[in-house]
Amino acid sequence: MFAQSLSNAMEWEITTSAATSPGWRTMFRIAFAMLALASILITRAAQSQDAATAHPPIINLDNLDRSVDPCTDFFTYACGNWLKKNPIPPDKTSWSLGSKLDDDNRALLRQILEEAAAAGPADPAQKKIGDYYSACMDEKTIEAAGSTPLKASLDRIIGMRSKRDIARVAASMPSQSILFDFESDQDFKDSTQVIAEVDQDGLGLPDRDYYVKTDAKSVELRQAYLVHVQKMFELLGDSPGVAANEAQSVMRIETALANGSLTQVERRDPKLLYHKMTREQLEALAPAFQWKEYFSETSQPEVQSLNVAAPEFFKAMNAVLEREDLESWKAYLRWHLVNANAPYLSAAFVNADFDFFGKTLSGAQELEPRWKRCVSYTDNHLGEALGQAYVQRAFSPEAKRRAQEMVKEIEQAMERDIQSLSWMSPETKQKALEKLHAVANKIGYPDKWRDYTALTIARDDEMGNVLRARTFEFNRRLGKIGKPVDRGEWGMTPPTVNAYYNPQINDINFPAGILQPPFFDPSADDAPNYGDMGATIGHELTHGFDDEGRQFDAQGNLRDWWTTVDGKQFEQRASCVSDQYSQYVAVDDIKINGQLTMGENVADLGGLMLAYMAWQDESRGKKLEPIDGLTPDQRFFIGYGQGWCSNTRDETKRMYATIDPHSPDKYRANGVVSNSPEFQKAFQCKAGSPMVRENRCRVW
Ligand SMILES: [Zn+2]
Repeated sequence: MFAQSLSNAMEWEITTSAATSPGWRTMFRIAFAMLALASILITRAAQSQDAATAHPPIINLDNLDRSVDPCTDFFTYACGNWLKKNPIPPDKTSWSLGSKLDDDNRALLRQILEEAAAAGPADPAQKKIGDYYSACMDEKTIEAAGSTPLKASLDRIIGMRSKRDIARVAASMPSQSILFDFESDQDFKDSTQVIAEVDQDGLGLPDRDYYVKTDAKSVELRQAYLVHVQKMFELLGDSPGVAANEAQSVMRIETALANGSLTQVERRDPKLLYHKMTREQLEALAPAFQWKEYFSETSQPEVQSLNVAAPEFFKAMNAVLEREDLESWKAYLRWHLVNANAPYLSAAFVNADFDFFGKTLSGAQELEPRWKRCVSYTDNHLGEALGQAYVQRAFSPEAKRRAQEMVKEIEQAMERDIQSLSWMSPETKQKALEKLHAVANKIGYPDKWRDYTALTIARDDEMGNVLRARTFEFNRRLGKIGKPVDRGEWGMTPPTVNAYYNPQINDINFPAGILQPPFFDPSADDAPNYGDMGATIGHELTHGFDDEGRQFDAQGNLRDWWTTVDGKQFEQRASCVSDQYSQYVAVDDIKINGQLTMGENVADLGGLMLAYMAWQDESRGKKLEPIDGLTPDQRFFIGYGQGWCSNTRDETKRMYATIDPHSPDKYRANGVVSNSPEFQKAFQCKAGSPMVRENRCRVW
């Protein structure tokens, strides 16, 4: 869901390397909620090598491969030498300029955390981040503890007397992918109200497709998953024979849940995720689950109505609850407990977890160094306390001012664009403009920082800190039910190298972490600044008007404000984009899923066009000269193209083809410029060149 994703800042891990970082499983759960529905704009996935913090120039001519004709393959022209000079570091699943920036950001965060840990600052929030980081870096204590930090939870599971106890145990393990997600969300039809919501979850693999696909690679991965689950049971002390049986139980239960789950493409349609029901209706869907006990144990006994995002899932959950015996459920719960927490335990757990999720599933070769993982965990669990210190050091008022200005210019460009559309009626244009004018711009960091007073952090208890932080965040989110919507809230932490649009709030959000060189540099040449950060801003803004975003009105309600004819016109234009991207190969024999990626591709196309319009307007009357033999227009497009320079492992490409609504970076460059007459003019591309599409797609 939109809100779910946005409010799940706690375990948000999109920018740290997908598979190598700890909560990557949670990351996927949340990220695709968010990616799919709330439109994270940019997955400039982060990977790293030990950081050099000198800022790179916004465009780098050494990265060009001039042996490639930009009209044939612009991505390889813009990035060819970068691709050759930047192999993927062993601890990464991909490597890009965004990854490098994320590494640089984490190096700065490390300094902040080491200082906080050493000095014991007087400010309570800063003391908490120092203590959290210290506990995480204390390998000796963590090693000595083994799996004992999970003992209380394990005992609770082992002590279950009947399946009726599952609800109570699930309530005691928030955010650990037990069966389903319990959340708060804005009511889709009344965006002023925060209501309770339950949604599908409960899997160990990244998506339901992993359980249902029958190709050889999927079958092989499931086999490897079974071996991994068995290994984790053995680490908890079970004999190999018992552990193998338990792994089979886990697979049966998860497969049943997967079969009841919506696909990623279905989840892009908000209408399929909105089913407001009374509590009695939910209880009738899944009577085998003790809802009364669950709501009361999660401190929400008064829930009387809620959104059941995926009703079919709860029917499937009920069937599997009835079918499987108590021992199988104990195996399922123990697996999810250890799976959610393995990254924070001793080396045996961390390494086994990495072997499957990092290596087998995503292709990384080495675990990230401990300090990087600990920086990411601190960001996940105390992100706004850490972010406050980050912003002081890395985001000047001048950078904020310039970013605000650029956002305004892009919004003005969109206003002109909407007014000039030949296919849209004046009536729908009026509504579109109302929505555009209502977009809230959030730049850098929240106006009001989150209060962590109620969260206890101990300097010698890593696992305890993680469990308490999860509970704190779970309670914080559920605490919003029935209260007014907080429109100032952020769904990403300030150091994050990413951005998003939230259709339920109708806001665009750019954390300080992405407003950095080489993506944004207030002191640099305008052309590549607009080509890169301008296009990112345009991308987020266009999400308000992509195939999902357009279904929400200016106030964030799911309400159709289009005339029938205009709606059809939109769909026709969007299907051009879907057809275009469906032709591209993601990896091996897997093509891009044009339906899954439609919103992102529409946003990419609109984003670059709006950035170009804004740049043209901004530089009107200025005399722009070529630099280094490149015209201003060429520099604009190279700024855009180099924003996508990246190398990605095949395993990760395969995973993203299933779960990531973004197209691979190469096509985020080529797919867009091949629809751009301004690009074709800038590089004098001839008709018939691969970067000149005969049938140009244009939505916005
Ligand atoms: Zn996007």
